[in-house]
Amino acid sequence: MFKKVLIANRGEIAVRVAHTLREMGITVVAVYSEPDAAAPHVAIANEAHPFPGKTTAETYLRADLIIDIAKQSGADAIHPGYGFLSENADFARSCQKSNITFIGPTPESISAMGDKITAKKTMQNANVPTVPGWSGDNDAPIATVQKEADKIGYPLLCKAAAGGGGKGMRRVDKPEDLEQAWQSAAREAASAFGDARVFLEKYIENPRHVEFQIFGDNEGNVVHLFERECSIQRRYQKIIEETPSPALSPELREEMGDSAIAAGKAINYTNAGTVEFILAPEGQYYFLEVNTRLQVEHPVTEMTTQQDLVRAQILVAAGQPLPFTQSSLQQTGHAIECRVYAEDPANNFVPSTGKIVAYQPPQGPNIRTDSGVTAGSEITVYYDPMVAKLIAWAPTREQAIAGMTNALNNFVILGPTTNIPYLRRIINHLEFAKGNTHTHFLTEHTIDASPPNPPVEAYIAAATSKQSTTTSASSTQTVDGDTPWHTLGPWRVA
Ligand code: ADP
Ligand code: ADP
Ligand code: MG
Repeated sequence: MFKKVLIANRGEIAVRVAHTLREMGITVVAVYSEPDAAAPHVAIANEAHPFPGKTTAETYLRADLIIDIAKQSGADAIHPGYGFLSENADFARSCQKSNITFIGPTPESISAMGDKITAKKTMQNANVPTVPGWSGDNDAPIATVQKEADKIGYPLLCKAAAGGGGKGMRRVDKPEDLEQAWQSAAREAASAFGDARVFLEKYIENPRHVEFQIFGDNEGNVVHLFERECSIQRRYQKIIEETPSPALSPELREEMGDSAIAAGKAINYTNAGTVEFILAPEGQYYFLEVNTRLQVEHPVTEMTTQQDLVRAQILVAAGQPLPFTQSSLQQTGHAIECRVYAEDPANNFVPSTGKIVAYQPPQGPNIRTDSGVTAGSEITVYYDPMVAKLIAWAPTREQAIAGMTNALNNFVILGPTTNIPYLRRIINHLEFAKGNTHTHFLTEHTIDASPPNPPVEAYIAAATSKQSTTTSASSTQTVDGDTPWHTLGPWRVA
């Protein structure tokens, strides 16, 4: 087993990985940028090494520096978390060359799935259903693109082969708009990924996003840990995820699970991965992509399967067999995750920077908060404004919604504006309660994005909280659940 592992990440995921490493008795090495010197992921580590600089390009994306630090500190392995270098095959290869284990799949699997065109072809060959489309040719005259688009039919999507995080995607509703969309998708892809290749895909109307957690080991075993429904998205980015999906019958779950395993076996997959599908309203499902890393929303799977996915990642990376078999895995109860952002939904979701004056995550026997910040943390413009993930588990979906509502009501974040009231309104929407979710939920239903009116007590609470960083939210809670703390958005005390 590894003695020392470097975590090449920041924020909540670095903290979450560190917890498991510590439980396993493994020494934790953190890396951090200048703005992160006082961050929780540094505090939790046994050893921490600074990067000179602030931007991600100067810091968490510096593969060379990270490998140097790993060598100097004597780390046996590197956990990349998600984002940053987690899906960078060259980085995984450089780790190998330096005799440092990359905790993730092989560089070959990462490359094979990093290109959506190759990934789709591989999955077609493995009999995994894919969305009808055209694999594209950036040198083709626009007339050829038009002809291929007519064959597929509208609406359709221009998608970047190297895409990720919803970037490089354009929906096209009519032929007149195709040329411009094709070119702008290519431009965005070139600047975001250094790869301008674009392909066409039929646009599936009102789909759900349903993905399967898969896990492979070095002995060729591939299992799935059921699905996560991630249909609540804003600009193709997930914000609320849950499992089980309200849309899957046991038969469909089994069929999709088999497809996910076939997808994993087709690429000799090892370690944790996610096979993403879209599910059309009629029940047909199509492969979208494989994310070759731990997923942001992995905690809902952990809470319903009672497995620690990071622990399994570490065991498999150390050459051990999977700690579970398909038949030993079971889904129990229901889990929902909300991504909590320092952003202002009322102002076009612009990130909200500044100091977190008070920070108190909700508690409860079935509540989990994965936080990347604490009281005193500074939200800067340099990194993703996701500050925490809030996860609620309960025996049933209805109870999980109630648990999440209560948890959101008791989440104290004073300072930057957050999306907590916005999340609560989604969770409490009648159609959400019915399980009628799809990827256009947030555009089809008008969710009030304004901050709730702060009650008079809010001002008093804000004024009296100046001195302390921990506060008792429950004592000042109001009937509709808007605690003064998170209603204070625009009325900062910092
Ligand atoms: P998940 O599918 O696990 O929910 P996301 O798609 O939200 O993950 O991405 C996880 C993180 O990685 C986010 O911070 C996102 O912005 C970032 N990310 C994902 N893919 C890319 C990419 N290709 N380039 C840059 N950032 C990415
Ligand atoms: P990324 O790498 O950016 O995550 P994906 O291919 O996984 O890109 O797609 C992200 C989201 O875009 C999906 O969750 C879904 O909401 C939407 N999407 C992707 N492909 C299609 C499609 N063919 N039809 C309808 N929606 C799609
Ligand atoms: Mg995706």
